[in-house]
Amino acid sequence: MNGEKNTKNKMSVLRGVRIRTLSLWIVAGTILVSVLIGDGIINVMNQHQKLAGMTQEYLLIKDNVADMSRGSDYLTEQARLYAITKDYNYADAYFQEVGITQRRDKALLEIEHRLQGKDPDAFRLSKEALELSNELMELEIHSMKLAALSVGEALDSLPAQVQDYPLTDAELQYTSQEKSEAASQLVFGQEYRAMKQQIDERLTSVTQSVTSICELDLEKSEKSMKNALTRQSIYTILVVMLVIFSYIMIAVLILRPIRIYVNCIKNNNFLEITGAYEFKYLAATYNNIFEMSMEQQNVLRRKAECDALTGLLNRQAFEQLKERLQGKTSVIALLLIDIDVFKSINDTYGHEMGDKALINAANILKESFRRADHVLRIGGDEFAIVMEKVQPDKPQIISEKIDKINWILQHPQNDLPKYSISVGIAFSENGYSDELFRQADQALYHTKENGRCGYTFYQS
Ligand code: GH3
Ligand code: MG
Repeated sequence: MNGEKNTKNKMSVLRGVRIRTLSLWIVAGTILVSVLIGDGIINVMNQHQKLAGMTQEYLLIKDNVADMSRGSDYLTEQARLYAITKDYNYADAYFQEVGITQRRDKALLEIEHRLQGKDPDAFRLSKEALELSNELMELEIHSMKLAALSVGEALDSLPAQVQDYPLTDAELQYTSQEKSEAASQLVFGQEYRAMKQQIDERLTSVTQSVTSICELDLEKSEKSMKNALTRQSIYTILVVMLVIFSYIMIAVLILRPIRIYVNCIKNNNFLEITGAYEFKYLAATYNNIFEMSMEQQNVLRRKAECDALTGLLNRQAFEQLKERLQGKTSVIALLLIDIDVFKSINDTYGHEMGDKALINAANILKESFRRADHVLRIGGDEFAIVMEKVQPDKPQIISEKIDKINWILQHPQNDLPKYSISVGIAFSENGYSDELFRQADQALYHTKENGRCGYTFYQS
């Protein structure tokens, strides 16, 4: 119960980053950066589309301005040709342009539509150019009427605007030659050219204004495109950092603990409490089980090495002790002890009393020797004592101890019968050996042969 409580306490103090939490953060980070990158890409694409659209619009407006200019120039050209040649086809082409083709009016509408109120100056200038061009038409129609009259053209074959154009009385009095010259003067003269120049200037201004607006837009667009690309670079760095961070976390919290655990298990050690919370929990659990298993192994080993009746170390423990002391350079003493005529105790007082006598002898032996001395029961009524690092004055101390034990056994305080032990003692300067056992056994035999209840030190 206590162990279970301890285990729970140990587990509850465990702290650390949980793999689940870490992976959730990494997934969240990846999603966030992915969304940012996706948004950035869409942004850049939009910027590019906007830029392409703007450039397209700019080119179209320039085309419209050129159309307006071409329309105006075409009218000038037809009017001038008519003034010179008096060929009616030119007048016809002129009115075809004014009434049907309408390049200038259509161009103005297109410009208005494309500017969408973005550049009011450009629109105003375009409108003024068209108005000036329309004012020029006054001179052109005037010229046409004079030209038509100079060659005696039937007026009703000409368009209504020409027919209705009012001439001054002086002009009506002009000779054919004068009318022809006046007609040319109107479309080639100073006033005409000055107005024509004004139209050109306005149209040039329109182009300049649109160009500068477009350049401004381009500059803005370029700036925001640069910003978008800078953001993309930052997001890319973020992705790289996220990958590096994930790898470091995996290495520190997962890979390193696994490597350490494998080494600990190979070396049969407790696991180091390290890494992510889950690994710490596993390690703590493993350590608890490992500790319990070691305790159980110790209990089993102690049980296996313990004599059930007397509680002393048994024959198996003696074998292990022998093995451990073999080839050692220290001086050891081996005492082989046998209870005298033990059979008769069994026969006279019963087996139970025999057991009590065995337990009693074991206890007295244990109490009589040092804690460091190994007291073992190696047979039915046979005991052994192994003394390590024996001092030179030991034989006397050993003999005194045996005498004392035999005195106690001969003067029982309880219901036990009187009995005694025989002891054979041998020393070795090279640890344990079979020879040492044989010598101690020979000494014991000597004791038995010489009246029992005593001891013999082996002498070669
Ligand atoms: P000796 O002086 O020559 O040793 O005579 P002994 O009668 O003691 O002869 P031995 O040592 O050969 O006899 C040992 C006896 O111990 C034989 C056996 O019946 C008895 N014995 C062995 N194990 C036990 C035990 O666990 N309990 C009891 N009560 N008797 C045991
Ligand atoms: Mg005996």
